[in-house]
Amino acid sequence: MMVIMHESATTEQVAGVVSRVEAVGASAHVSVGERVTVIGVLGDREELTALPLEAMPGVERVVAILKPYKLVSREFHPADTVVEVGGVRIGGGHFCLIAGPCSVETSEQVLAAGRAVKAAGGHVLRGGAYKPRTSPYAFQGLGVEGLRMLAAAREETGLPIVTELMDPRDLDDVYEYADIIQIGARNMQNFQLLAEVGRRDKPVLIKRGLSATIEEWLMAAEYVVKEGNRDVILCERGIRTFETATRNTLDIGAVAVVKLASHLPVVVDPSHATGRPELVLPLSLAAVAAGADGVMVETHPNPEQALCDGPQSLPTSALAEYAARTRELAAWCGKTLG
Ligand code: PEP
Ligand code: MN
Repeated sequence: MMVIMHESATTEQVAGVVSRVEAVGASAHVSVGERVTVIGVLGDREELTALPLEAMPGVERVVAILKPYKLVSREFHPADTVVEVGGVRIGGGHFCLIAGPCSVETSEQVLAAGRAVKAAGGHVLRGGAYKPRTSPYAFQGLGVEGLRMLAAAREETGLPIVTELMDPRDLDDVYEYADIIQIGARNMQNFQLLAEVGRRDKPVLIKRGLSATIEEWLMAAEYVVKEGNRDVILCERGIRTFETATRNTLDIGAVAVVKLASHLPVVVDPSHATGRPELVLPLSLAAVAAGADGVMVETHPNPEQALCDGPQSLPTSALAEYAARTRELAAWCGKTLG
């Protein structure tokens, strides 16, 4: 439930409500807004409804949250969450460009990509060291060796890195090297994995599952935030539909829906959504217009030789032009870059 305080409520009155709900074993999450303070309360429904919170000093009203997701809902936390990583801000009017290869292949490849991302004004370098491949015979990623290559590229470029975690057994390694931990589309409902990253203190980027509803996607985020990690970024990467012209169907409406329903930042991955490099720019512009807080694109110094997702990757030589066009619209929409 939500406890909405009076505009004139004092900090002592807010503390009074917090200690009252904590006394029955519930948790209180205080959001101080420009006008009013709102306290989100999670706990046993019966115990909470028995509490006379509405009669407490400073309380204006108490309302139930009907949605199944609570902590990630906008009702619970009206202000935008801004995720800060390595000097970069994502959300709350800050727009970020995340780019890099699908997979880390060699030190030279990831470094060349990192330099191109930096030169194009990108903010975060992406690259997979653990790859979720449909075929067990396809390249599966370099594992820890790949993480080290990414870290070396961060060292040289200064760009924070995002990389996918597939298995809780690799969490310590990924945690050691990554700045943002990516949960891939195929693992969006791996609830134990979500809870594990929720117990760590590094931002988590959750891609939308191939067939996940928006509510299921937000519930995945709820798993992470419930464990204490509030730094979650959502990533729309296209869903499965009957359409075959694109690899997936970018659900651009989901961006606008999630921006209303949740305070978490939302980024769009037009590379996996379309599978076609020529569609990456137009759909990035659509993402910006729909209110996205950033884009995540695949780029490779030599797409035709890539070990994974080459056909959808922008050549690094095209990244600066792509970034400039996307940035221009983001700025026009009133976003601050990075
Ligand atoms: C990726 O980002 O490299 C990836 C595998 O994406 P997704 O989980 O969206 O398919
Ligand atoms: Mn990929």
